[in-house]
Amino acid sequence: MALVCIGICREAAAVGVSNRYRSPRNPERRVRTSTRLIVLHTTEAPARSSLNKVSDRGECHYCVTESGQVYAIVDRDREAFHAGRSMWQGVEDVDKYSVGIECVGYHDKAMPAVQLAAIRDLVKELKAMYRIPDSCVVCHSHVAYGAPNKWHKFRHRGRKRCGMLFAMPSVRRQLGLSARPAYDPDTRAGRLGNADEYLRKVLYGGIDTMVSAYGAGAKAVSAAPPRAKPAVPVAKPKPAAPAPATKPKPVATKAEAPPAPRSIAELRARGYVDVGAVSKERSAIKIAGAAWKSPQTYYTIRDKVIPGNRLDPAHIEKGMHVWMRK
Ligand SMILES: [Zn+2]
Repeated sequence: MALVCIGICREAAAVGVSNRYRSPRNPERRVRTSTRLIVLHTTEAPARSSLNKVSDRGECHYCVTESGQVYAIVDRDREAFHAGRSMWQGVEDVDKYSVGIECVGYHDKAMPAVQLAAIRDLVKELKAMYRIPDSCVVCHSHVAYGAPNKWHKFRHRGRKRCGMLFAMPSVRRQLGLSARPAYDPDTRAGRLGNADEYLRKVLYGGIDTMVSAYGAGAKAVSAAPPRAKPAVPVAKPKPAAPAPATKPKPVATKAEAPPAPRSIAELRARGYVDVGAVSKERSAIKIAGAAWKSPQTYYTIRDKVIPGNRLDPAHIEKGMHVWMRK
């Protein structure tokens, strides 16, 4: 790594990193064994309180203020506690394999150009240093997930919208990033359900609320048909993320593409087996595990066939049979 230590080295000229807020937690943090993601956050607070907080708690590797000043917080090769409950491609605890950058600002507000330029330079150096492709520069909301709770009885994506704007094509363009993850590998695989449809559309669909703020830079993107969101997911040839990001259409389309089976006979014909019926002792989650809300899991009752993603958690009936592909 010494090879590519161009700007981030202490007091380096290119990025201008300050050590003023180095975290006292540094010595107690483990050295990471791998680095596969760069995770961007928004602090949702002004600079001073953000810096104090992330430094006290060792919550990121770098913090970038509105003026473009970059502060080194936790040594970049050590673990910073920035992602909390998190998962990507089935691997939990993203802190163990990522670099976290806190950006002073808000998940749904445009940032000053000078700040974005500083983030861009920092990301560029880290990408080179750890050989991370654009599609693995994600925002916190890509990887955070929530435990089952009162509102969502399943493990779910959508726990936070932190850093959401960094998934928007117009912003990524400012950051010199082309590809972004084309779909959520964990909801697609049924490991998590989706609890925030708006967020999903920002991360993987066509919602980009920053086009007006970054008009010039976003021209090429906004000029394209709004729903096609082309250039972005397909641009980078080397994916490293889930499956090759060649399909511009995200999660839902792929999952819902084949018409859902309408009868038990059809389920059987497609290789599904009855893995049990919901009862007082056996909940849908107990039977189907993390895939209980997956569109690939089906529930049958009174000749009705319901895909897991359409199942209303409030109306799971006893006696519903769960069908999964073996
Ligand atoms: Zn965050």
